[in-house]
Amino acid sequence: MKFDFIIVGQGICGTFLSYYLQKANKSFIVIDNNYKNSPSRIASGIINPVTGRRMVTVWMAHQVIPFAWDAYHEIGSELNITAIHHKNILDFFPNPFMRENFLQRIEEGNEYVHAYPEQNHFNQFFNYEFGCGEIRPVYIVNNEQLLPAWKNVLKERQQLLEEDFDINVLQIKNDHIEYKDIIAEKVIFCDGIESFKNSFFKQLPFAPNKGEALIVEIADLPGNNIYKKSMILAPLNEKGIYWVGSNYLWDFDNTDPTDAFRKSTEQVLKAWLKIPYKILEHRAGVRPATLERRPFVGLHPHQPNIGILNGMGTKGYSLAPFFAKQLTDHLIHDAVITPEADINRFQRILSQKNV
Ligand SMILES: Cc1cc2nc3c(=O)[nH]c(=O)nc-3n(C[C@H](O)[C@H](O)[C@H](O)COP(=O)(O)OP(=O)(O)OC[C@H]3O[C@@H](n4cnc5c(N)ncnc54)[C@H](O)[C@@H]3O)c2cc1C
Repeated sequence: MKFDFIIVGQGICGTFLSYYLQKANKSFIVIDNNYKNSPSRIASGIINPVTGRRMVTVWMAHQVIPFAWDAYHEIGSELNITAIHHKNILDFFPNPFMRENFLQRIEEGNEYVHAYPEQNHFNQFFNYEFGCGEIRPVYIVNNEQLLPAWKNVLKERQQLLEEDFDINVLQIKNDHIEYKDIIAEKVIFCDGIESFKNSFFKQLPFAPNKGEALIVEIADLPGNNIYKKSMILAPLNEKGIYWVGSNYLWDFDNTDPTDAFRKSTEQVLKAWLKIPYKILEHRAGVRPATLERRPFVGLHPHQPNIGILNGMGTKGYSLAPFFAKQLTDHLIHDAVITPEADINRFQRILSQKNV
């Protein structure tokens, strides 16, 4: 079998890379092992323009977020699903300090941080003695439907192998690569934290970060907003079902859900909610984060048949569409990749190949 590209992984990165390569009439095969706890499968998929306690505008927000909104609409209409929803965050202040902090951001003119006029509107659902504000616009990706729907398209078109990609079988030739019975021009790794072990890319400054979430049923809570009070409560596709999270662990021994997270999240929910809830599921996964909090995009500086789209960290749902398109344009037209994301910045580190 001959293809232009092999794409390893169909998380949100592999989904958008294959989507744009298909639009560019390139041939490819995606190899994905359906890892059920991949971050793309367990994330809430929120696209939030601000980050951290100080609510700093996220990197490249003005380019990346409008691009993402259009990209999810476009892929959604091709798949006949609503792939993205506009749901703003109602931020309930956990203490007077956070309220002051929020009001200060409004005074400074942060375009995404707004006062919420109807302060008592959520009294029947939540305890919030210090008031609330609104972050907008915020979007949430319907990843529960998007990833399987794109997988089905790939399957129908015979562009998907559902199996483990074994890097030991990969052969690098001068102007192509070979993998089992496949010959391709290039292989692009979109395999999340698995790239950390890959002999071509393991020198990159990855910083894996574990995160957990509970899936809860809160039948009486309106699902038209995302709610936040030290934790995020995000509506999922099914009415009355919410995603609650998350934590950020840099130091961990395994990828399993922890009792500590479950207990602390239950405590938050008990104190915050006035209405009944039921825990349905507990998930954990590892974000492919990087030390400098910037993605890894491009072709290996010393192995031009091998590429990567990775390192999306906590923001894969915002960043993946934009950088998948950039990488596609780079692969086909040699277009420039944003220098902070281009893996060429690690040219020297990547010359020390240690298999
Ligand atoms: C708890 C949690 C909450 C999050 N919330 C958000 C959020 O609200 N918004 C946001 O933007 N981001 C969020 N993130 C981060 C986001 O999920 C990641 O940035 C993003 O999913 C990374 O996507 P990816 O495609 O690079 O990797 P992955 O999701 O890891 O996808 C890799 C794919 O490759 C496959 N694979 C791996 N190795 C192999 C192999 N050897 N052979 C074949 N297939 C292979 C896997 O099965 C998987 O399908 C969250 C993450 C976590 C853990």
